[in-house]
Amino acid sequence: MPTVLGFEGSANKIGVGIVRDGSVLANPRRTYLTPPGTGFLPGDTARHHRACVLDLLHEALSEAGLNSKDIDCVAFTKGPGMGAPLVSVAIVARTVAQLWNKPLVAVNHCVGHIEMGRLITGATSPTVLYVSGGNTQVISYSEHRYRIFGETIDIAVGNCLDRFARVLKISNDPSPGYNIEQMAKRGQKLVELPYTVKGMDVSFSGILSYIEEAAHRMLATNECTPEDLCFSLQETVFAMLVEITERAMAHCGSQEVLIVGGVGCNMRLQEMMGTMCEERGAQLFATDERFCIDNGAMIAQAGWEMFQSGHRTALSDSGITQRYRTDEVEVTWRN
Ligand code: MG
Repeated sequence: MPTVLGFEGSANKIGVGIVRDGSVLANPRRTYLTPPGTGFLPGDTARHHRACVLDLLHEALSEAGLNSKDIDCVAFTKGPGMGAPLVSVAIVARTVAQLWNKPLVAVNHCVGHIEMGRLITGATSPTVLYVSGGNTQVISYSEHRYRIFGETIDIAVGNCLDRFARVLKISNDPSPGYNIEQMAKRGQKLVELPYTVKGMDVSFSGILSYIEEAAHRMLATNECTPEDLCFSLQETVFAMLVEITERAMAHCGSQEVLIVGGVGCNMRLQEMMGTMCEERGAQLFATDERFCIDNGAMIAQAGWEMFQSGHRTALSDSGITQRYRTDEVEVTWRN
């Protein structure tokens, strides 16, 4: 029964998780928050992660009731993500692995999300929508790869929401997207926005520019409220995501959808996806914020699958990379 320790820190969350044969034994996490109207910069985020990572490691071990002897493998996020935060966490993972004399496994962050979603929901062969602050992809497994069917051609959907939150000076606590979701519930009027689906791909940067300009103009003249704009943005971008997910399902003959990534805990997105699934006689799988927002257990879980199927990362090959596509990983643990 291997027990795997996982370190995640590719963006503004730092998490340390412990997984043993499908059980999450611990999964503490901290989020680096910045004032309303601002985002998180790589250097400051790395400083935050360095300040908390050892506390989180102790917390994870004590919550799981384990010590270093009980750990069989140390997994960490290789990428994709922001350079400085990735480096700060990878250094700790490498150091711990050497001090404790454990094998290292470098994990693709996107694969971590998929494996966590599969573990928690029990979805067997889903079409996956991965939506977060840094990533937007529709993925399906085939022939030992997670194949990307569609993706954003510019910014991620979560980045579009986060940056719109900055325009309206919405709080980043607990996340800008969560606060947009709450405001959107009070929206009354649908402001028409560009709808940008290009084949299987989507684009959000034009929508963001458009709504930024609309916000300055329409809020000044009371043509609509901030709540109306949050509502309109969510309805538009989520409809685009549901459309490309449905098209991938039709292509693959899939009857399951799994939503992963931080934007995946948005209940309105889940509701819209659920309606589409119902119409097709398909099933929707999603997780709550503990598992869909970046966390250490997802890296431990993907690491566990990799470790079990024989993966080991040599120290000399344990660097990070900001760009690391989901389909670069050979998925040796699935048939
Ligand atoms: Mg993520």
